[in-house]
Amino acid sequence: MTLAPWQEEAWRLLAARRARGAMPHAILLCGAPGLGQRDFAERLGAWLLCEQDGDTPCGTCRACRLYAVRTQRDPEETRPDGALAQPHGHPNHPDARFVGYAWNAKASPKKMYGELVVEQIRELSDWLALPPQFGRAQVALVEPAEALNVAAANALLKTLEEPGPGRHLILVTTQPARLPATIRSRCQRVELHPPALATAEAWLRGRGIADATARQALVASDGNPGQALEWIEADKLKLRNEVAKDLRELSAGIAAPFEVAQRWSRDEADLRLRFAAALVQQQGRVQAQAASSAPAGGPLALTRAVDLAKLAAWFDRANRTRDLLRGPIRPELAMLELLGAWPTTRASDGGVQSGVK
Ligand SMILES: [Zn+2]
Repeated sequence: MTLAPWQEEAWRLLAARRARGAMPHAILLCGAPGLGQRDFAERLGAWLLCEQDGDTPCGTCRACRLYAVRTQRDPEETRPDGALAQPHGHPNHPDARFVGYAWNAKASPKKMYGELVVEQIRELSDWLALPPQFGRAQVALVEPAEALNVAAANALLKTLEEPGPGRHLILVTTQPARLPATIRSRCQRVELHPPALATAEAWLRGRGIADATARQALVASDGNPGQALEWIEADKLKLRNEVAKDLRELSAGIAAPFEVAQRWSRDEADLRLRFAAALVQQQGRVQAQAASSAPAGGPLALTRAVDLAKLAAWFDRANRTRDLLRGPIRPELAMLELLGAWPTTRASDGGVQSGVK
């Protein structure tokens, strides 16, 4: 478990706090997806349990070795998107607990919970009330913290109010704003940020990525190297280009919102919207720096500049549509409404394309 370059500063700050005996008992670890907060959190857990008192987990003591031995539940626990709930498994160290999406054994047939529930937090609190088996510390990692439901968050609040000595809670989230303010205010917030562009490029180069690809992916990910790598490896940059082309053709009146909405809602809807929102944000930045005269260029290669306020409004709308798609809604309708509101750049009408209510 080595640190990525953009994680080193956060680690140094925590090491300094621990050195002066001020290690927070509850940490809220935040950052955009792809910055490796899960790995960071697991490393933090190892360090708190490690029997050596170094600035990093030693990796060789009894605690470190047990912590590194992992098991998956049978059958495996998964997130709503199908990924493993515990990407590296549950640790075999008796003083470490990972809480995440779990099986609802009461359901018949047994199925995964779609959120983190109060029973899990009660069980966690009971466990934290016991003395650590190795006498050193107890570490609980909760991820994704934004999936705690209201009852679970309330139960967690009690645990956060009176953590016993040596008890550490690490909450991991990519969406801290979704957590109740009462939870956030009781945690020490630790935030991971993307590094400088040169650092991100060097990191990708170290993973065998060609410079041109790395640059393109870093533009798409707003400088987030982990996200860039994931998209390169999963071959998603083509999809981003396709989204840019669709938006360009919609604004020129060449493509029909209905056809694009069908296509976007059928496959990778969320990622398409993420790319679209990011493209529009970048388009806004380029336009804001350029003269207002045509052509606008930018990542969407628009023939004419679109009003910046309209780009900003559409950006918000795209993000709201991403939220909507997580609920019980017909995706093609939400998508059609969004795409119908995409501003056109045809000379004949400077306004918002109408026709979709
Ligand atoms: Zn160790």
